[in-house]
Amino acid sequence: MRALVTGGAGFIGSNLVDALIERGDSVEIVDNLSSGKRENVNARARLHVLDVREPLDDLFAELRPDVCFHLAAQADVRVSVERPDYDAEVNVIGTVRVLEAARIAGSRVVFASTGGAIYGECSEPAAEADECRPLAPYGAAKLAGEGYLLTYQRLRGMKNVVLRFGNVFGPRQDPHGEAGVVAIFLGRLRDGETCRIFGDGRQERDYVYVGDVVRATLAAIEVAGGVFNVGTSRATSVLELYELCRRVAGSETAAELAPARPGELQRSVLNIGKAEEELGWRPQTGLEEGLRQTWNWIRA
Ligand code: NAD
Repeated sequence: MRALVTGGAGFIGSNLVDALIERGDSVEIVDNLSSGKRENVNARARLHVLDVREPLDDLFAELRPDVCFHLAAQADVRVSVERPDYDAEVNVIGTVRVLEAARIAGSRVVFASTGGAIYGECSEPAAEADECRPLAPYGAAKLAGEGYLLTYQRLRGMKNVVLRFGNVFGPRQDPHGEAGVVAIFLGRLRDGETCRIFGDGRQERDYVYVGDVVRATLAAIEVAGGVFNVGTSRATSVLELYELCRRVAGSETAAELAPARPGELQRSVLNIGKAEEELGWRPQTGLEEGLRQTWNWIRA
């Protein structure tokens, strides 16, 4: 298969690129390296340092990918609150540019969307048909991107797939970023620094290991289209997560409690029944095992 991965120098994208190369696919990457890193890029993939806000028609016409995995994004919720226009340029206009180039080149698109930022507060694990109530411009922009993908499916007959990821963690997630609590906790534990827990620590999230997310993304190529949650259907509180992080890091350091952050969701969990049934996929890496693998990477 000829694959094009936007955001292929980033955390999830670079793990996906490695898996595609492993399968024997030919892989091209579009990334502007705004948060991605050259060192993440597999030596057997070709990196095009380009911005998805610019037209990509010529590149797609030259490469003619069978599938474009569109992961390039402004992925920081807080940046989207501070600069919603910039967020929309990358996450809405950028997605439309990718989609249009893919349509002209006859490629399918698999889009990395978000469950956590789209559904809003979840009393039960959210299913794909549930109402979406984003609390930040990032979620609104991703939802708009999804809308374009599904519109192109109806208007142009493209077989596009939307994947709504839970809280993804694993090797190559930036421990110095603003988001990605697992990487931040493990990075601070490695450096002997105190971790901060905001609010009472009872906020719950659906943590899914990057290797499982990559397998779901590959499974998405086999279906004709649709929207799928990619999580675990399990909720873990920040307090529980911190305990597990301490265990894998062999640390006894207590976390420091900090004031709750305004607008933060109390509970976000994804129902993955549809992905299990239609993609034949389910997560294989338990939280503690995934944390161990992440710890091994982070301390190396
Ligand atoms: P990341 O920041 O590591 O990766 C994003 C990549 O996109 C980076 O390599 C960055 O350089 C590139 N990029 C950003 N703006 C670009 C632009 N204008 N043009 C070209 N490239 C650009 O983030 P990630 O965590 O790997 O996220 C990958 C995708 O998954 C994103 O679409 C994100 O919204 C989505 N997602 C991530 C999570 C998570 O928990 N990490 C959860 C839900 C959805």
